[in-house]
Amino acid sequence: MSRQRIYLDWNATAPLCEPARLAMVDALALPGNPSSVHAEGRAARAVVEAARRQVAMLVGANPASVIFTASATEAANLVLTPDFRMGRAPLSVSRLYVSAIEHPAIREGGRFPADRITEIPVLRSGVVDLEALERLLSAHRAEDGFALVAIMMVNNETGIVQPVEDAAKIVRSHGGLLVVDAVQAAGRLPLDMERLGADFLILSAHKIAGPKGAAALVSRGETLMPAPLIRGGGQEKGHRAGTENVAAIAGFGAAAAFMARGLDARNAAIGALRDRLEKGMRDAAPDVVIHGGGVARVANTSFFTLPGLKAETGQIAFDLEGLSLSAGAACSSGKVGASHVLTAMGEDAKTGGLRMSLGHSTTGEEIDLAIGIFARVAARRKLAGQAA
Ligand code: PLP
Repeated sequence: MSRQRIYLDWNATAPLCEPARLAMVDALALPGNPSSVHAEGRAARAVVEAARRQVAMLVGANPASVIFTASATEAANLVLTPDFRMGRAPLSVSRLYVSAIEHPAIREGGRFPADRITEIPVLRSGVVDLEALERLLSAHRAEDGFALVAIMMVNNETGIVQPVEDAAKIVRSHGGLLVVDAVQAAGRLPLDMERLGADFLILSAHKIAGPKGAAALVSRGETLMPAPLIRGGGQEKGHRAGTENVAAIAGFGAAAAFMARGLDARNAAIGALRDRLEKGMRDAAPDVVIHGGGVARVANTSFFTLPGLKAETGQIAFDLEGLSLSAGAACSSGKVGASHVLTAMGEDAKTGGLRMSLGHSTTGEEIDLAIGIFARVAARRKLAGQAA
């Protein structure tokens, strides 16, 4: 008997939205290479450039500042480098400062050797410690090179919104550069490159209901740019060589345009469902710990710990009941390690956390079913605990 599955793992990846699917199908029919000068090439180029405008619009950037990559991870590896150019002059970055709760794509430090990476701690609330950032940058030796700081706008596990505008002021006052991973913020918070004060922004199509395999590095201007990661035929103005994935980029653009519309109404609807979910969880298991409840979170994410239930076991239990969620961040091996985010927040990371994340097509019926499943899993956990 087939049973309805409930997908509450939108922070891992969002199902493709219909406008993105249609744009991709159209683009797949185009035979040309966007670098070719003939009519077929120009048609493909037009699709790529339209998508560039749509992505730029989502984050209030200049389309010329959008560089398409194949993943946010690639965009991070492009921008996290000691080697930049300011116009024609080389500009050297001596140290990378990354928050302790960054996604591994950023936390690994891209092209920086490990001994040139410093972690910025977070407070118990799950918010980056700005006083620590100030102290670290005050101690930075400017004579060795510039400081590059990477702070995410929204944490993928907790959904907690990070004070990136304040961080930008601190970074700027110390003459440093700021990279903001906006992968989980895009489509969930209003984004404006100028207001944010970031030098670079990282986006990923598949988190905004676009396809997997397209992403972007967005820069503030075009003067300060990282040394290319992939060299070759000069595509993306030499910043990222390789023939563009036209269909994926078309889907990215369409998804960006879709997400740019009706943000407030979408957040209100999703937030109401998330609150209903969390109330249902608290009613079913009053000992559930919901992380980040006291600070600003995006509307779609609920990260919780059920005492006595290991995240890894919980994930399987929910999956067997027909509910897809994540134990912390999805990692490629499918294995669940201790959550570095919970550890950074000073929480007991051994039990781990489970994450339910909602999206624009999540329904009230799905949430009610999810609450029922949660109640069953939580009750079984208690029985197991009593038997032990
Ligand atoms: N940054 C954050 C906050 C993420 O959640 C993810 C994906 O989970 C990434 C970066 C990496 O994105 P991509 O899958 O496009 O490499």
